[in-house]
Amino acid sequence: MADFSALARTYGTPLYVYNFDTITEQFTTLKEAFKARKSLVCFAAKANSNLSVLKHMAKLGAGCDCVSIGEVKRALFAGIPKYKIIFSGVGKRDDEIEEALQNDILMLNLESEEEMKRVEIIASRLGVQARISIRVNPNIDAQTHPYISTGLHENKFGVDIESAKRMYIHAKNATSLDPVGIHFHIGSQITELQPFRDAASVLANLLRNLKALQIDIKFFDVGGGVGIRYDNEITISLYDYAQGIFTALGGLDVTLVCEPGRYLVGNCGYFLTKVLYEKNNGYKRFVIVDGAMNDLIRPSLYGAYHEIEAYGKTMEHTTLCDVVGPVCESGDFFAKSIALPPMEHDDILVLKSAGAYGFTMSSNYNSRTRVAEVAVENGSDRLIRKRESFEDLIALEKEYV
Ligand SMILES: *Cc1c(COP(=O)(O)O)cnc(C)c1O
Repeated sequence: MADFSALARTYGTPLYVYNFDTITEQFTTLKEAFKARKSLVCFAAKANSNLSVLKHMAKLGAGCDCVSIGEVKRALFAGIPKYKIIFSGVGKRDDEIEEALQNDILMLNLESEEEMKRVEIIASRLGVQARISIRVNPNIDAQTHPYISTGLHENKFGVDIESAKRMYIHAKNATSLDPVGIHFHIGSQITELQPFRDAASVLANLLRNLKALQIDIKFFDVGGGVGIRYDNEITISLYDYAQGIFTALGGLDVTLVCEPGRYLVGNCGYFLTKVLYEKNNGYKRFVIVDGAMNDLIRPSLYGAYHEIEAYGKTMEHTTLCDVVGPVCESGDFFAKSIALPPMEHDDILVLKSAGAYGFTMSSNYNSRTRVAEVAVENGSDRLIRKRESFEDLIALEKEYV
C-alpha cells in the first residue's frame, strides 16, 4: 500500500491513514451486488465522519445515514445531497428533529411511538409533512458481540412489529406525517447471512400487510452491519447478501436502502504509532507506543482485534508482548500476547483495519490532542485533518480562568 515510514515522517505519529481507493472498491462491489434493483447506499457516518471521507462518498454517489444533527450537517457540508440523507437514532432532541425537517432530508428513522408524536407536533408547527421510516426490531440474534447487537427485544432499538403497524396506520392518517420507509438494523460486524435473510423476510411480510392497508412504502432499508475481516473471520459474500434480500422482497416494488459503515471504510484505514520504549518487568514484556486508547478505543472497549505489523522489520527473534499506550488505565492496550521482534525507539507499528470506529470514537482523555488524518488516493497522500494543538485543547475554557 503506502510507504508508512514516509507518511510517519511527513505527518508525525500517531496517525490515521485512509486509502480512498479501497473505499471506492468496496462501494463498487456493493452497488454491483444490488444492481438488479433500485438502490441507495447511505454510508453510516458514525463509522468515519471526516469531511473528506464524506465528500468521497458524495462523489461515489452515496448518501448518508446520520445519528445526530451534527452528522446531518457534516453530510450536507461535505456535499451529500439532502435527498440522500437519513436521520436515525433512539434519542433525537426536538431541536434536532426541527433542523432535520427544515433541511428537508430524505427521511427520519423513528424508533418509538413517543418520538413519532414529537415529530408530528414539530412538523405541524413548521407546516411541513415529515417523511418518516420506522425502525422495526425483528427480534433476531445477529450472532455478534453483545455491545454491537441491536436487533433483539432486550436492546433499546426500534419497535416491535405490532407497534410498527399501529404507527404506520397513525402516520398514514396524520396530515403532517408521510410514511415512506421501513427499516431494520440488527447489529454490527455480522458474519452470517441468515440473520439478514430472517430480518428481511420479517419486514417484507410486514410490508405486504401494510400494502393491504393501502400504506405504500417506497424505501426498504436493511441497515448496515456487514462484517469485515480483522483477523481470520469468514465474511459473507455481498452477492449472496443482496440475493437473500431480493428473495425476501419477491415482487415488491421498493427502492432498497442500505447503511453500511464498517464495510465501506473499515479495511481502508491504518493507525500508525511509534514505539517509545520496551519494558520488561520480569514477568511480562511490554511495548509502549505513542498511540493510546483515546485514539483507538476498540481493543479496550470490545476486546477487538487489530492486526499489528512491525513495519519494515523482519519477524526474527520474536517473543510475546503486550502493546500498550501511555494512558493511565490498565485497559489501555492495543494487543495482548502477540509476537513481535525486538523493537527500538521510533520503530513504527501499523494497526490494520482501523478505518471504522477509530477516529470517530477518539477523545481528549489525559489531555491528549486528537491525531491527524491522511488520505491516500491514486498513489498520492494529503492531510485531511490537522493534528490538534494545545491551543485547540483549551480553546473553549481559557476565557473563564
Ligand atoms: C451503526 C449503524 C449503522 C452502521 O453499522 P455498520 O456495522 O458499521 O455497518 C447503520 N445503521 C444504523 C442505524 C446504525 O446505528
